[in-house]
Amino acid sequence: MKKDYYNILGVDKKAPKDEIKKAFRTLAHKYHPDKKTGDDAKFKEINEAYSVLSDDAKRSQYDQFGSAGPAGGFNSSSGFDGFDFSQFTQGGGFNGGQSFEFDFGDIFGDVFGGGGRRAQTKRGRDVSIDIELSFEDSVFGVERTVLLNKVSKCDNCGGNGAEKGSELTNCSTCNGKGSVREVKKTFFGQFESVVTCNVCLGTGKIPKVKCHICRGQGIYKKETEIKVKIPAGIDNGEMIRLSGGGEAVAGGTTGDLYIKIYVKKHALFKKDGANLVMDLGVKLSLALLGGEQNVSTLDGDIKLQIPEGVTHGEILRIKGRGIPQSKSARGDILVKINILLPKKLSREARKTIEDLKKEGI
Ligand SMILES: [Zn+2]
Ligand SMILES: [Zn+2]
Repeated sequence: MKKDYYNILGVDKKAPKDEIKKAFRTLAHKYHPDKKTGDDAKFKEINEAYSVLSDDAKRSQYDQFGSAGPAGGFNSSSGFDGFDFSQFTQGGGFNGGQSFEFDFGDIFGDVFGGGGRRAQTKRGRDVSIDIELSFEDSVFGVERTVLLNKVSKCDNCGGNGAEKGSELTNCSTCNGKGSVREVKKTFFGQFESVVTCNVCLGTGKIPKVKCHICRGQGIYKKETEIKVKIPAGIDNGEMIRLSGGGEAVAGGTTGDLYIKIYVKKHALFKKDGANLVMDLGVKLSLALLGGEQNVSTLDGDIKLQIPEGVTHGEILRIKGRGIPQSKSARGDILVKINILLPKKLSREARKTIEDLKKEGI
């Protein structure tokens, strides 16, 4: 009853693994049931032999006891029924056979490499660019026009590849279906799959007269002007995605355009959420007496009322001159008071201060 697995694969008892693998491939090729030379029983036998001899543990058990199982020998009803070829479906891949030390990728890679082509829609390349903004533009938002040299949809034909006034007809290659059956001859026989028609690129239609600009491609590389609306309040390092602003692809969807924003620093202002923050130097006399001081804002100069006795580090608020949050709402400017003390006093000033000192100030 004992089957001689070495004999079945036609290898020596001391044959190394790669030799066993090679022998298995050659025989599996020959006896696959889909082949003319195929033989179902023999194919199963080859699989069985290989499943044992390719597994170190099973092989040594087989060598020792003449069987790879604990008792009763190893036959095709004891857990091994050959490869389940029903699993080899387009796009599905092969997920069985974990018990085999056998690289399916090797053999099937070229056959099934195109798996899922039918379901995939082609997508154009994403494009990314940088835009540098002035601080003011980042606060109020701006519209920028950028010139991109990229593959775009043809304006002349609107992307269908037909010359103006010319109509589209059914693709004769795929009979208007957009897909064709593809038969690949392989190792284990023929495999059939449905792939996108490469004449009409899946649309099922071809132009009667090709567009003279894109030569019927529907796309071509050109300089394209893109208007980008940059929203108010954008921050340094933020990214804007313009869906469909990337490269076009024939018979697929256009990629996206990614715009990375760089904001130049402002000499006076820093952003803090919706607010702008600034330091304001105030003379000691003004701080003591109070009064008006000119302050520049992003909307022009204004007069800021400095309250009498303002303290160093105190924050004054200029309402509604910060970063726009909506059409009606804006943040504020927070003015941090920095009281400027004179480094040197004139003789007169010193005398005056000494008088203040006497007064207890
Ligand atoms: Zn065109
Ligand atoms: Zn076609």
